[in-house]
Parts: sequence; structure tokens; C-alpha cells
Amino acid sequence: MQLLVVEDEPQMAELLRQGLTEDGHVVTAAHNGLDALALAASEHFDAIVLDLMLPGLDGLEVARRLRTAGCLTPILMLTARDRVADIVTGLDSGGDDYITKPFALDELLARVRAVARRGPIARPVVLSAGGLALDTGSRTATRAGRAVSLTRTEYLLLELLMRNAGRVVPRDTIVAGVWGYDNEVEPNTLEAFVYLLRTKVDHGHAHRLIHTVRGVGYMIREVPA
Ligand code: CA
Repeated sequence: MQLLVVEDEPQMAELLRQGLTEDGHVVTAAHNGLDALALAASEHFDAIVLDLMLPGLDGLEVARRLRTAGCLTPILMLTARDRVADIVTGLDSGGDDYITKPFALDELLARVRAVARRGPIARPVVLSAGGLALDTGSRTATRAGRAVSLTRTEYLLLELLMRNAGRVVPRDTIVAGVWGYDNEVEPNTLEAFVYLLRTKVDHGHAHRLIHTVRGVGYMIREVPA
């Protein structure tokens, strides 16, 4: 399997790389959260092994950003503490499983195989908000029963907003989730796509769903302001 291993400590990173490689996996290493996000956005991985103690962006924030950006790759978290509160926080941030340091290599290998075997995390197939329904299987949308025709980018943008309905999605997160972290996006590109999306989703309806939060980003809000 293709694995992304995120760990800053050189010794631990090497131990993980060696053990997982010997177990037949192809390992890509990242030593900080930003590198991990960039790699996850540009390459395919079957699973991510994510240490929670990282300099800068910690593992919890990395997991949150991955999920907000629509990444469904299973995540196995490495945590130094086994306090229930820490574990709950980790899984709530987007982790699929965790293992406490120090751990036996065999146990880690077994967990990685198990997490990856489950495949991309399950999500509801139809997302809905305020009469708008988005089928993530067929990538089609309807509002009040009427079909909404979307281009690929419009779909990705709408899916990201729908998955975060009721929450503001920052511009950077949207750009990263829709276009990928490696891509430079022209300043008005996002505005243009939001405009297009509004004409398709909100035009002709009494209540607008897509709202601009000035200086921050965009959100889908069901209740009219
Ligand atoms: Ca670490």
C-alpha cells in the first residue's frame, strides 16, 4: 500500500519507514504538517500514519484540515498519551484509529493494515441543506426537486461547502480543497466560481444558501439571515 508517514523525530520516522517498508508498503515521509497537507493533496495514499506531536501545525490540526478539504484517506494517529479525552479529540478531528507510543512494531503494522483495509471513510451519500440535495455518488444536485447542473469544479466547491454546512469555510481551505495545495489560483477565481454556483443554486429561490463571510470565506446557511 501507499502510505504517508508524518513524524518529525528522525529516529522514530526512520523506524516507521523501515518497519512499514519491510512489511511491503511504499512509504512517503513528511516531517511537518504543511508538507503532509501538500503531499496528501497531490498524491494518492491508501492510509496516513500521523503523529500528533508535530512542530507548527500539530497532528490534530492536520487531520482537521485534511477532512475539511474533503480528504477521505484513512488516518492512523500516533499519540503519546492514552487519556480518553485525547483519544476522543483525535478521532473527532478526523482520525480513524490511534496507537499509543511506545508501541510494538507488530501492533503498528497490524493497525495500518486494518485501517487501510477499511478503505476511504464512509460518508453519507446524499448531503442536504435547505432543500438542496447533493448526491456524492452521481455528483448531481437538486434544489427543491429541480436538477442543478454543475461542472466538476462547481461540484467540488459545493461538496466542500455542503460537508461544512453551518460553518464558515475559510478561503484558503476552499482553494486547497478544490484546487489542491500546489496550485496557484488567481485572486478572483474563487469569487467567480462562487458567483457561478450562486446563479445555479440560489437563483430563483427566496432564501439564499451560499453566504459570503467578508474577509474570511463562505458558508452554507439554511436559515435566512
Ligand atoms: Ca513527533
